[in-house]
Amino acid sequence: MDAPTDTPDFEALRAAMVREQLAGRDITDQRVLDAMGRLPRERFVPEAYQAYAYADHPLPIGEGQTISQPYIVAYMLQMLALRGTERVLEVGTGSGYQTALLCMLAAQVISIERIETLSAQAAERLAALGLTNVHLIVGDGWLGAPQYAPYQAITVSAAAARLPKPLLAQLDEGGRMVIPVRERHNQEEQALIYLRRTRCGLRAKKLCGVRFVPLISDQAAADQSN
Ligand code: SAM
Repeated sequence: MDAPTDTPDFEALRAAMVREQLAGRDITDQRVLDAMGRLPRERFVPEAYQAYAYADHPLPIGEGQTISQPYIVAYMLQMLALRGTERVLEVGTGSGYQTALLCMLAAQVISIERIETLSAQAAERLAALGLTNVHLIVGDGWLGAPQYAPYQAITVSAAAARLPKPLLAQLDEGGRMVIPVRERHNQEEQALIYLRRTRCGLRAKKLCGVRFVPLISDQAAADQSN
């Protein structure tokens, strides 16, 4: 007889997450569903939270930061409409979970995180999974990474006070960007904004209300006073 084990059946939990939280809502991009069905999310959360890795909400990852709810990660990835050829900029590496998904869905990923320890942990996790098409940067993501621009997709997973001009400038023609932005009339509220750069300029659309940790940037404050 098999010895009883307390280890959750992560594969079954992952399949249920994809079925119920993603496909069961409005996630239809098969590449996103497949990638999230393959990536072991339990490897991106602290040991104490591993049993909840597939729960339908964000989880703490240390340093006062969070790994986003699976659904919101899927929704943002779906909006980027990645086909595997893109160079993508991510602001807010965090645990590295979304970074790993971007590696699976795009050609090249540049990911910026302001907290060095989080970036270092993410680097270890990505290397352990054999994901090499990624370059991690420790710094202020408000500025983006102009040395690798233009990007066909940009995703920001911390709420900005307003749209960061440097990121808009680094978005390629035809490029897509998703970013949570704090509402001007009420900084407690946030909206997820989708932007697309067309030949005629930038088109922006408000998608839904969201709740992200704040984007912390000295540069953002400096840009405002200019
Ligand atoms: N997508 C991540 C994941 O899968 O774990 C979750 C990211 S967490 C919601 C947001 C991250 O943005 C935090 O790790 C935070 O330190 C980072 N952050 C906040 N302001 C930043 C900035 N100006 N530049 C880079 N990273 C920033």
